[in-house]
Amino acid sequence: MGINSLRKEFRRFKDFNYYDNLVSNKFYLLPFNFRRLNSKRELIISMLGDFLIVPEGTVEKLVLKDIKGIDENLYYDLLSNHIVHDSKDIKSLELLSNRYRAKKSNSFKFAQLHIFVITLRCDHTCQYCQVSRVSENKGKFDFSKNNLYKGIDLMLSSPEDDLTMEFQGGEALLAFDRIKEAIAYTKSKAELLGKRINYVICTNLAPISREILEYCKEEKILISCSLDGHENLHNENRKRPGRNSYDLVSQGLNLSFEILGRENVSALMTTTSLSLEHPIKIIDEYRQFGFKSVFLRPISPYGFATKNKNSTYQTAEFIKFFSDGLDYIIDLNKNGEYFKETYTSILLKKILTAYTENYVDLMSPSGLVNSVMLYDYDGKVFLSDEARMLAQMNDYTFQIGTVNDSWENLLSSPVIEKISNAGVNDYLAGCSTCAYNIYCGADPVHHHATQKDMYGFRPDSSFCMRNMSVLDIIFNKIDTDNEVLEIFKSWVNNE
Ligand code: SF4
Repeated sequence: MGINSLRKEFRRFKDFNYYDNLVSNKFYLLPFNFRRLNSKRELIISMLGDFLIVPEGTVEKLVLKDIKGIDENLYYDLLSNHIVHDSKDIKSLELLSNRYRAKKSNSFKFAQLHIFVITLRCDHTCQYCQVSRVSENKGKFDFSKNNLYKGIDLMLSSPEDDLTMEFQGGEALLAFDRIKEAIAYTKSKAELLGKRINYVICTNLAPISREILEYCKEEKILISCSLDGHENLHNENRKRPGRNSYDLVSQGLNLSFEILGRENVSALMTTTSLSLEHPIKIIDEYRQFGFKSVFLRPISPYGFATKNKNSTYQTAEFIKFFSDGLDYIIDLNKNGEYFKETYTSILLKKILTAYTENYVDLMSPSGLVNSVMLYDYDGKVFLSDEARMLAQMNDYTFQIGTVNDSWENLLSSPVIEKISNAGVNDYLAGCSTCAYNIYCGADPVHHHATQKDMYGFRPDSSFCMRNMSVLDIIFNKIDTDNEVLEIFKSWVNNE
């Protein structure tokens, strides 16, 4: 009997004996979802994120309580992975509820990442830039000192004690003096308030200098730069006069490694249509600089990025790029080189551990409010970086106020209430029955931007297609290649 015919069977009530037999069998079902991995294998995932890959037909036997049809070892696997339960003992269920609470722990938090768009000025005209940028000499596009201090006061009055203050642009280092003022002001107040602040500067590294890096070293500031891949690709994506963006990032990286140490410097790539043919060259570029990971990151389909043909491609094309890249990275690991893919690692932490990740796209309840706040150069406050990209196209849906507001005012914005409904995938149509919902997220900004509906329609959602495909790739690899699980565990354990 297939699952479809099984569903039809259940539409009619059976006689009493049928239900009596089901109840008198020795196990009880715990909440789980399932997915057919291929014609022979099924994937069962508990509400806690424990998973089992089982022979086809197992789910049907479970639902029918056909204990005789289930192999004894499999039965114990089902028990230990919290897919079934062998007693009505409420205490063990309490244990499960604690684990579920740990999985959802980030929903009890407030934003820890506070992004300050310190200037819109930029020295690049990147193909895919999602925000408007203005030429270098327009000082009016910097954060004013007055607004900056108000934004910092707001950040410091938020409930979390461990905060990350990230400076973005435009090109953040074009407003380096303003960054120094921001850090001096934050430091003067943070200690009194018992707040611990990590600082990050996101930069294309073109304006970097020994003097700036010495300051970063002194203030323990991390550097996050953009590196899209090999020279041609990087220069094509990241245009600037003289077509020397790659040379500048290359020199800047080496100087940053020398002064700050490798562990304090990271790089991010963005996949454009020009990248799609080159997953291996891109990964090799990261290896050449000594990085131990790469984040194969799709472009966000927002803002000005949507206006450039090199910035748009089909999700299926991205998945092929991602899959080829992941294959290559796994081969590197099999040959003894530790190197990981960051998006996979975020998902693996959710799959292989009792914990979760604070990655805003993959959170339910949504990471908006719980994970990140953004203060734009003109004092507007947004719920995420993507939210301000939308504002660049005159869509202010996710602006909750300005730095002049109190948290009470900001958090009573009507959009917050909408997000609390649209940002929980446990009960969104399509997601609520999806095997992957404990690992995935809701992303109301993406669905608002791409489908004009924060809830989103999953059959047409590029967010859904990407996550479902990536998770299918991960589980198929775990199922078919014995070495892969150990490699994946090493990525999670060596964070
Ligand atoms: S977005 Fe798609 S993959 Fe993610 S939980 Fe929803 S249905 Fe599943």
